[in-house]
Amino acid sequence: MNITRMDLADAGSPERLVLEILKLEPQLPIPVPIEELCLRLDIHEIVPLTTQGYEGGLITTPEKFNGSILFNKASPTERRRFTIAHELGHFLIPSHVPSAEGRFLCKLQDMRKLKGGESDRRLKMEVEANRFASQLLMPPPKFRMDVAFGKDPDIRQLSLIAKKYDVSKEAAGRAYVRFREEPVGIVVTQNGKVLRDYRDSLKFPRLAIPTGALVPAHSLLHRRKHEMGVPSDIDETDAGVWLPVERGRQPAPLYEQVLLQRQGYALIMLSRDAVAADEEDVDEEAEMTSAERLKRRLFSDR
Ligand SMILES: [Zn+2]
Repeated sequence: MNITRMDLADAGSPERLVLEILKLEPQLPIPVPIEELCLRLDIHEIVPLTTQGYEGGLITTPEKFNGSILFNKASPTERRRFTIAHELGHFLIPSHVPSAEGRFLCKLQDMRKLKGGESDRRLKMEVEANRFASQLLMPPPKFRMDVAFGKDPDIRQLSLIAKKYDVSKEAAGRAYVRFREEPVGIVVTQNGKVLRDYRDSLKFPRLAIPTGALVPAHSLLHRRKHEMGVPSDIDETDAGVWLPVERGRQPAPLYEQVLLQRQGYALIMLSRDAVAADEEDVDEEAEMTSAERLKRRLFSDR
């Protein structure tokens, strides 16, 4: 690797930084050697955290001449890699300024923040660090090709991709729903309750089941017996089980696939056909800010 921080001096956004890194290191292997990359970019050391309750941290100065990255050593290695990439994001994104004590401390929940922050500076930094980490560990040019492979969205494919890029299935899933052509939603559940879900709001409608609610009785999770660690077959499920369906309208088919994991966790992949997706189910503007909405209306030719 030849990259230095000087090469990245003009990049301000997470996307731009990743683009520059990929341009300067076109032979960057997969999985991305994240620790080696950090050391090339003025991170002195990558060491375990000693503070309880955090997933990662960065110790630096306001000028950010150099830094130390901290990680939770109790976490699985693939999550650790995401944490290290996230902290590298805080280090490289010029607008991310450390606390008065010269550090960033990030919780596990921070690593999952995907949107928001227009009026919350800290949240905005977390969202940007996550975008940086996701794109750096799953470089879009390669990742897009791997995601497009295969006839239907499938947890088996997602698992292989997660292994290849050495990221958690959840981190891979967040990117998968964006890059897969078909509308896909990924629901993370534990002990029969919905913990969180990932979907591209432009392609996949908001779930009718809120966070914290029980997984519907007619979900494939309950309809069949599942074997731990073995993705189920893909089965059609009545769309109304998961999605808001207007009375008297025939919704597009919804497919469901389940992967039972340890400690009561399960991943549920929901998907629809690319062409038959029921466009009117999706409120394309539901999660945009008013500025984004305005921009969309002004520049959209629809
Ligand atoms: Zn953070």
